[in-house]
Amino acid sequence: MELAGNLAAVRARIDAAARAAGRSPAEVTLIAVSKTFPATDILHVLDLGVTDIGENRDKEAALKAAEIADRAPGQRLRWHFVGQLQRKKARSVASYADVVHSIDRVELADALGRAAARRGRSLDALVQVNLDDRSAAAADGEARGGVRPNDVVALAEHVAGTAGLRLAGVMALAPLGGDPDAAFARLGVLAEGVRGIAADAVVISAGMSEDLEAAIRHGATHVRVGTALFGGRALMSDHVR
Ligand SMILES: *Cc1c(COP(=O)(O)O)cnc(C)c1O
Repeated sequence: MELAGNLAAVRARIDAAARAAGRSPAEVTLIAVSKTFPATDILHVLDLGVTDIGENRDKEAALKAAEIADRAPGQRLRWHFVGQLQRKKARSVASYADVVHSIDRVELADALGRAAARRGRSLDALVQVNLDDRSAAAADGEARGGVRPNDVVALAEHVAGTAGLRLAGVMALAPLGGDPDAAFARLGVLAEGVRGIAADAVVISAGMSEDLEAAIRHGATHVRVGTALFGGRALMSDHVR
């Protein structure tokens, strides 16, 4: 029951933010990020009308995707992989994911494209942008993943030319401790550049539990919400942002 209340509250926030920005709430897709929570919780939000589920670790995602396929065959849903991704996991991710939000290097795009094409699949691919240019970690794209803003167009062009992938848009996290409005405004400009490569690459994946309003103000088409729906996660270092 708690999930239903949380979902209603998140939907109300999305609606209010969209209207305040002069946008239709229907332009914003809610991705329920279910990492660390069991498949039962995913089934629950699917029952409540959510159709997009996000996970950030391959092993956990693969197990849950199999469990949902088993317990709810024929369920209409899209799996979003939102976490940093090692190339060696590409084959597994390409077997269940519909959208990969974290493409931040050519080698990863190539591996995902190859794996998807081999299965006769096409993955929607988002170029992840690192909007944190202050920290040393950001300089080598380490901390939270993502390509530097100057390299977005080149990587997006590569993705657009990769069999097995469809360039779908961009994704970013607001820098920790930074101003989300400034970050997401910048993402909006970069997204325009990507639409110049493929007119249908319209996805802007931005905004989480704390900053979804700012993201929607700046054009987010997809918000990725975990905590506000499912509650707090246990503090496991590789699960925390
Ligand atoms: C966990 C996670 C989210 C959701 O974050 P919350 O703050 O729990 O809403 C969104 N995006 C990514 C990439 C994540 O790893």
